[in-house]
Amino acid sequence: MSKQLRVAIIGAGPAGIYAGNILANSYQNVEIDLFDSLPAPYGLIRYGVAPDHPRIKGIVNSLHEMLDAGTIRFFGNVTFGKDLNLDDLNRHYHAVIFATGAIHDAKLNIPGVELEGSYGAADFVSWYDAHPDYPTTWPLDAEKVAVIGNGNVALDVARMLAKQADDLLTTDIPQNVYEGLKASPATDVHVFGRRGPADIKFTPIELRELGEVADVDIVVYEEDFPEGWFNEDAEGVTNQHRVMAKVLESWRGREQTGAKRRLHLHFWHNPVEILGSNGRVTSMRFDRKGEEREYQLQAIYRAIGYFGSALEGIPFDASKGVIENVGGRVSGLQNVYATGWIKRGPVGLIGHTKSDAMETIENLIADSPNFADPEVSTKGAVLELLRERGCQFTDWAGWLHLNEHELELGANFQGVVRERVKVLSREEQVELALGGKYE
Ligand code: NAP
Repeated sequence: MSKQLRVAIIGAGPAGIYAGNILANSYQNVEIDLFDSLPAPYGLIRYGVAPDHPRIKGIVNSLHEMLDAGTIRFFGNVTFGKDLNLDDLNRHYHAVIFATGAIHDAKLNIPGVELEGSYGAADFVSWYDAHPDYPTTWPLDAEKVAVIGNGNVALDVARMLAKQADDLLTTDIPQNVYEGLKASPATDVHVFGRRGPADIKFTPIELRELGEVADVDIVVYEEDFPEGWFNEDAEGVTNQHRVMAKVLESWRGREQTGAKRRLHLHFWHNPVEILGSNGRVTSMRFDRKGEEREYQLQAIYRAIGYFGSALEGIPFDASKGVIENVGGRVSGLQNVYATGWIKRGPVGLIGHTKSDAMETIENLIADSPNFADPEVSTKGAVLELLRERGCQFTDWAGWLHLNEHELELGANFQGVVRERVKVLSREEQVELALGGKYE
């Protein structure tokens, strides 16, 4: 029998849970503790996927089974660098895996980016998904809005801004978000890509879905589709590109129905400057193939990619926003690993983090014969330490309780069946998970 291992994973999003599950299935004698800074598990799925994407949110069901199987213990409301540091983890575990993801916006370095009305998409996503560390209100007062970027986050943001709030009522949309979106005066949402329509980073389902949003007219511009704009034999062209080219083609010359809102797709628009008056956004300038273009806009959402955050004591590549690593082995440290977006950067769909986790876990298991036994190896010791430090951590049973509560709230919310109603504040989530007064 292989020697017993104790492994800590930091980050209970898909990357951390897949890593834990793969480790539990490939190494017989292992105890895994999974920590998250939030009281609830599931990271990006709970706080990054748009409310109207139940198919993607459904991944939670398999993650739930992985955590419910018993080998992995979940502890929420535990922040690495505050409640636990690397020395603590080294004292209690043979190995540590960081799966902290990438939750902030990549920076757009152009003048005017700091003006009021210029927002990072990641912040907006955190708002509409009711992340407990974000304000519950969002200034939705613009009629003409820009979304910068041609990835799926740009589509999420554009769709959420264009959709009629009433069409979101059956999802897990928080009530404050519903009310905010309902009052939005938006008439036009402009999505700007810096490259051409053949170079979009969307995926087919998400692009097609845009054309099916009720009471929204899609507008594409003939200038962006010159003869031969899509070469299906070009290097790197996949079936996905072919499908998306057909979708875009079907929108050319599409008749306007007089819908309440319009969603415009512009290509080859390279951001140059955001202009404003009295500190507020009034317009944005782009370079379109050497020609200057300016659009009157009152809000700009920058969806140009996510960026990872540095962790105390862990080597970090600040140019890429990832932990320095080779195949998931963190550079310069013994027995410390990384997986998911903090390992390879914020690209790829949720499922892709599985292959990532496989590589990291293979390397961890290969290294395991050389792991030194931790100083403290009882299961309760780390919990004692957290208690001593006044950390009110949640656990799996607590999450089940909170989950049940949110589902019940949703079951009859003001006469509508909502998928769930998330508890907004961190404190209330913790109270509920601890079986406290919010029953
Ligand atoms: P992404 O797919 O990498 O797209 C980023 C976009 O920003 C690209 O179009 C990129 O253009 C553009 N960009 C980067 N820097 C720019 C700049 N300085 N000026 C103008 N444009 C700039 O990233 P993402 O949208 O954040 O998505 C992250 C991952 O999550 C992706 O794998 C995505 O598919 C996934 N995701 C999936 C869903 C879903 O519903 N399935 C939803 C959200 C996210 P270039 O291509 O020219 O660099």
